[in-house]
Amino acid sequence: MSDSFDVIVIGSGPGGYVCAIRAAQLGLKTACVEKRATLGGTCLNIGCIPSKALLQSSEEFEKANHALKDHGVLVDGVKLDLARMQARKEEVVNANTKGVEFLFRKNKVTWLKGTGRITAPGTVDVDGTAYTTKNIIIATGSESVPLPGVAVDEKRIVSSTGALELDRVPGHLVVIGGGYIGLELGSVWRRLGAEVTVIEFLDRIVPGMDNEIAAAFQRILQKQGLKFRLGMKVTGAATGADGVALTVEPAKGGTAETIKADVVLLSIGRRPYTEGLGLEQVGVELDGRGRVKVDAHYATNVAGIHAIGDVIAGPMLAHKGEDEGVAVAEILAGQAGHVNYGAIPGVVYTWPEVASVGQTEEELKAGGIAYSIGKFPFTANGRARAIGDTDGFVKILADKATDRLLGAHVIGPDAGTLIAELTTAIEFGASAEDVGRICHAHPTLSEAVKEAALAAEGRALHI
Ligand code: FAD
Repeated sequence: MSDSFDVIVIGSGPGGYVCAIRAAQLGLKTACVEKRATLGGTCLNIGCIPSKALLQSSEEFEKANHALKDHGVLVDGVKLDLARMQARKEEVVNANTKGVEFLFRKNKVTWLKGTGRITAPGTVDVDGTAYTTKNIIIATGSESVPLPGVAVDEKRIVSSTGALELDRVPGHLVVIGGGYIGLELGSVWRRLGAEVTVIEFLDRIVPGMDNEIAAAFQRILQKQGLKFRLGMKVTGAATGADGVALTVEPAKGGTAETIKADVVLLSIGRRPYTEGLGLEQVGVELDGRGRVKVDAHYATNVAGIHAIGDVIAGPMLAHKGEDEGVAVAEILAGQAGHVNYGAIPGVVYTWPEVASVGQTEEELKAGGIAYSIGKFPFTANGRARAIGDTDGFVKILADKATDRLLGAHVIGPDAGTLIAELTTAIEFGASAEDVGRICHAHPTLSEAVKEAALAAEGRALHI
C-alpha cells in the first residue's frame, strides 16, 4: 500500500485536471492518474487544441491564397509547408500539456503515471501500486464511436486523431458524419486543397443545432466548396493501394453506390470511455448509453465515487467538464459547487464560426413556450463589412411574456467570442431589452448582438 489522498482523479482531461487543481486549491491532498504520456486528455492532445491550431493555420493559408487580394494585398506564389504547419501544431499542443504539468507542480497535485483501476471504494490501483483515498473522481472522458464495416487504420481510414496527423493533403477526403468535429476537420483539409465530401445519415448537418442556423451553415460551407450527401448511410469500406471505396446507400433504403476517397474520416460521434476501470466489480451503475450515472452532486451510486466530464451525461464539451470539475471539488470541500446547464455555450470553429447557448427555436416549440425572435445580419454591421466577413447573422430568442433571454445563436465572424456576452446575459437572467440597452463599442461585431436584441422588440436601428 502506497500514499493516501483525500481525492484521486482518474483522467487528466479538462474535467480531471481542473478538478484536481481546484481540489488542491481547497486544501485537499490530491492526485491525478493519467495513462497518456502527457497531461490534458483528449482536449489538449488530440482534440480542441490541435484542431484549433490547424484551423488557424489553414485559415491563414486560405487568406493568403484568396481573401487578401480583396484587401489590395497581393501575395505571389503562396505555397503550403504542411510539415511546418504540423510541427507548429505540435508546439502548441506541447506548450499546453506542459502548462498543465506546471500547474500540477504549482498546486501540489501528484501525477500518478499509469492506468487507474478502482479495486474497491477508496482504493485505486495504478499499474500494480495501490493508493487509498477518501474520494475517487472518474474523469476518463470519451472515445470515437466505431462504425461496423469501416475499420479505422489511422492511415486511409482515420478518426479525428489521424485526421489531425495527415502528412499530405488528400485529393478527395470523405467525412462520414456531419457533426462539428467532421466539419471543422473537413474545413481544414478543404482549405489546404482537398476536395471534401461529407456523408450524413440524417437529412441535416449538426444535429441539435437550431435548424435555421444549421441550414445557413450548410449553405455557407457549400459556397466554400464542401459537398454534402445527406440522408445517406455508409455500409462498408474496402481499402486498396490507391484509396478507399465506400459503399453508400440512401438511409431510407434504395440503390447502393460506391464513393471513392483517398482518405476517409470517420466522425460519427463520441462515446464514454470506462474500459478497464473496474466499474462492474465495484458496482458503479452506467446508463443505457454507457455513461456513468450520477446525481446532482456528481455522486455515483457507490459512496465516495464521483464522475464528471464526457463520461457522464450532457454535452461532450471541454468547458462543461471543467465546470463540473470545479463544482465537484467544491462540493467535496463542503462548498456549494454547481453548474448551470442552461448556460453552456457550444462553438463550431469553422469560418464563419457558429455558436449557441440556451434553447433552440425547435426546443421552445416542443416545450410549448411562446417566444419572440430578434435577428440581425452581419451584412448590416459596419465592422463586418470593414473586415470583409459578412456571412451570417445573430438570432436571439426571448420569452414572449417576460422578454427573458432563452436562447442565442450566432453564425458569423468570431461568433465564439460574441456568444460570451449572451451566455453572461442568460446566466444573469437578463432580458432582450437589457442586452439592447447595453452600450456596445462602435464599430464592433458585437453591435450585431445588440441589434438582434433590439430586433426581438421590433426596434432594431440599422435594418
Ligand atoms: P478527456 O479529455 O477525454 O480526458 C480523459 C483522460 O483520461 C484521457 O487523457 C485518458 O488517457 C485518461 N484515462 C482514461 N482512462 C484512464 C485510466 N483508466 N487511467 C488513467 N487515465 C485514463 N470540446 C470543446 O469544448 N471545444 C472544442 O473545440 C473541442 N474540439 C474537439 C475536437 C476534437 C477533434 C475532439 C476529438 C474533441 C473536441 N472537443 C472539444 C471535445 C473535448 O475534447 C472533450 O469534451 C473533453 O476533452 C472531455 O474532457 P474529459 O476531461 O471528460 O475527458
